[in-house]
Amino acid sequence: ADLKNADLKSLAELGQGNGGSVEKVEHVPSGTIMAKKIVLIDAKPSVRKQILRELQIMHSCRSPFIVSSYGAFLAEPNICICMEFMDKGSFDGVYKKVGAIPIDVVRQVAFSVLEGLMYLYDVHRIIHRDIKPSNILFNSLGEIKLCDFGVSGELINSIAHTFVGTSIYMSPERIQGAEYSVKSDVWSLGISLIELAQGRFPFASTSDSDDENDSDLEDTGAKTERQQTWHARTHSTGVSLDGGGMTMSIIELMHQIVKEPAPRLRFAGSPEEFVDACLLKDPEERKTPKELLKYAWMQQALRSTFDLKAWASTF
Ligand code: ATP
Ligand code: MG
Repeated sequence: ADLKNADLKSLAELGQGNGGSVEKVEHVPSGTIMAKKIVLIDAKPSVRKQILRELQIMHSCRSPFIVSSYGAFLAEPNICICMEFMDKGSFDGVYKKVGAIPIDVVRQVAFSVLEGLMYLYDVHRIIHRDIKPSNILFNSLGEIKLCDFGVSGELINSIAHTFVGTSIYMSPERIQGAEYSVKSDVWSLGISLIELAQGRFPFASTSDSDDENDSDLEDTGAKTERQQTWHARTHSTGVSLDGGGMTMSIIELMHQIVKEPAPRLRFAGSPEEFVDACLLKDPEERKTPKELLKYAWMQQALRSTFDLKAWASTF
């Protein structure tokens, strides 16, 4: 049977993003718990139908590294996308709750994201386009899965008047206007991994660059706040080009990404080597997901006996 709002009982609000909000719901006829994403779109009926068709791809994704979809429907003026509910939420929430993520977990996140990207590209010819901690989900079974990938070009175009497509995880070449490629996702993965391992967003604002002493807790707290400031800025009404001081800040960050050396994961050995390969500024040199899976760190991930399920039960 088709999904419809009348069958969905709202249980809790899970979060708000740029393009909409996400609720925990129960599909009453089946008793299934789902996450319902509500996206306000600005598009003609014909385009809405096109978006729904494109979202069908999401429905056909079958991978342990991709959040599964129950389907999408129109509820004017919104599009609702129902997906697998991940009870530990997204990794941004996880590190804000537990602090810096243990390196063994970060390694498994890296591995899962690469496997997810490979699946999307090899099987469906999709580029994710929005890799960041809030789109990497976790559950109490210890599973790590990607959500919010760019299945629908029309949907991306129709999330009107927001800052969609501009993100603090954006690669230097994207900032400079190049087309998306799977290597842009690799950059975003590298930034996300440093953020998880350090418990804070890796770019500091230039007026306050104390990057070298980054291990005491107080400092970490301050940085997390700053990261949240960036986050809040990109999440506000949208950073418009005439937005005054706000605009300068996001422009300043973009400038830093393009001009300054890439951030590094200060974790000697294979983690550092891996993240360096994700954050090569020239996309020609940067590695593909397939190449990265051959790195020593990912071979360790493949053989890992680290118990993610046990770790999930600690918070
Ligand atoms: P942006 O809009 O910039 O992409 P975002 O990813 O935080 O930011 P949403 O995609 O709207 O915004 O998601 C909001 C929050 O809902 C996420 O941060 C995540 O914690 C939660 N969430 C999303 N999907 C699920 C899901 N399937 N299961 C559990 N929680 C989810
Ligand atoms: Mg999201």
